[in-house]
Amino acid sequence: MQNTEQLFKNIIAHSKEYGFVFPSSEIYDGLGAVYDYGQYGAELKNNLKTYWWKAMVQLNENITGIDSAIFMHPKIWKASGHVDGFNDPMIDNKDSKKRYRADNLLEDRIAKYHKEGKTDKAAQLQEQMDAYLKTDDLAGLKQLIEEHEIACPVSGTRNWTDVRQFNLMFSTKMGATAGENEVVYLRPETAQGIFVNFLNVQKTGRMKIPFGIAQIGKAFRNEVIARQFIMRMREFEQMEMQFFVRPGTELEWYAHWKEMRLKWHLALGVDPARYRFHDHAKLAHYANAAVDIEYEFPFGFKEVEGIHSRTDFDLSQHQEFSGKKLQYFDPELNKSYVPAVIETSIGLDRMFLSVFCNAYTEEALENDSRTVLKFHPALAPVKAAVLPLTRKDGLPEKARAIMDRLKLDFNMQYDEKDSIGKRYRRQDAIGTPFCITVDYESLENDTVTVRHRDSMQQERVSIESLYGMIAERVSWKTLLQ
Ligand code: ATP
Repeated sequence: MQNTEQLFKNIIAHSKEYGFVFPSSEIYDGLGAVYDYGQYGAELKNNLKTYWWKAMVQLNENITGIDSAIFMHPKIWKASGHVDGFNDPMIDNKDSKKRYRADNLLEDRIAKYHKEGKTDKAAQLQEQMDAYLKTDDLAGLKQLIEEHEIACPVSGTRNWTDVRQFNLMFSTKMGATAGENEVVYLRPETAQGIFVNFLNVQKTGRMKIPFGIAQIGKAFRNEVIARQFIMRMREFEQMEMQFFVRPGTELEWYAHWKEMRLKWHLALGVDPARYRFHDHAKLAHYANAAVDIEYEFPFGFKEVEGIHSRTDFDLSQHQEFSGKKLQYFDPELNKSYVPAVIETSIGLDRMFLSVFCNAYTEEALENDSRTVLKFHPALAPVKAAVLPLTRKDGLPEKARAIMDRLKLDFNMQYDEKDSIGKRYRRQDAIGTPFCITVDYESLENDTVTVRHRDSMQQERVSIESLYGMIAERVSWKTLLQ
């Protein structure tokens, strides 16, 4: 059996070779931690967005969706705490000129101690690091790096700079005569666009508490180091929902959303053992509960989604910084208050990676092998491929007619090149659940062969029945009911 490192390399290679994910600006040697989604990647991503949007917005009468701008008033990031507190501790190696996150260097050392069976040493280092991170003690972090003789993986030396704080927000300038005051940020999270529209949505939508606002959009973070492919990107996409509740009831709603969100992940048919909750031991100063939903990637369990009980922190801050009231009048209590908020925040790219890793299967067959992406049919980029057995005798025309009947409702592919076996393999590699083969019998009795991706079983069905068969298998109902 191959090791997980090799497996992950194969997954990355497959995603590129079959048009899912490309490194950005590749012909210019790429741009660090930025990626482009190719022809099938874009489809898969869109399907994941639809799955989320339907589950959150369409199925909950009290949740509504918005699309706020990436640029926002710079004061928003002051109010949210991002200008002053959205930092990572970084350190440079003077010989290699490489920059690292101090906590990542220490985490790697902790993992090494674990591997070597030095669990006490690992635990002690973890405890010291957590304490220094909590108090922003940068000199303390540097001291740990020195004490544990951590060397730069590139130069092999221990010639380090001091540890400094590095703000993760990208800034740019707005307007033709940009001066100091016109600095604007690329949003590092989509949530603030929801908070500042809280009253707009509540009033125009006549929303009653409890209610939620959801949105999907790009976020930008100048991550000090990029790791593990699309796990940690500098430009990525988030799907976030802020749920506004009566203060004092937030922990009940937190428990509710924790359960609902895990259910959403598990509905995809993933082995439940691949998911786990990771409760935050250290809470952000504004949160009174927080948990990560972690997925077991080939490189271990990592956060895919966070669920946070944020109290009334964000709305209160915006109330203070904007000078505008951000309160809800509760007719049942006959009083106004700043609502408490439960946030569910999932990274679309990390979700993409988890779905891709879960689907990726290398299968040994009797005299052959195949690589197949076993996506849930509702998520598959291409739902069905139509394959005429030969390129003559009216078979392509018959196949095209089938395409025309199905392509309005399903993303279809037509392929007449190479042997049928090769065409099946190509569709397996992009995860197409159905291959429809048109042969001479099809001309006689309007039937075709349908080959199923996972079982590779073939069955003879009438052309008439194709629509219903595909519709049933790819329907969102299979996931959401
Ligand atoms: P991490 O600890 O991994 O940096 P985080 O706790 O900072 O993540 P949040 O701020 O809670 O992440 O963001 C919510 C979600 O956004 C995360 O669960 C993750 O899926 C996604 N996310 C955050 N940063 C990135 C990134 N740089 N690239 C891709 N997705 C990201």
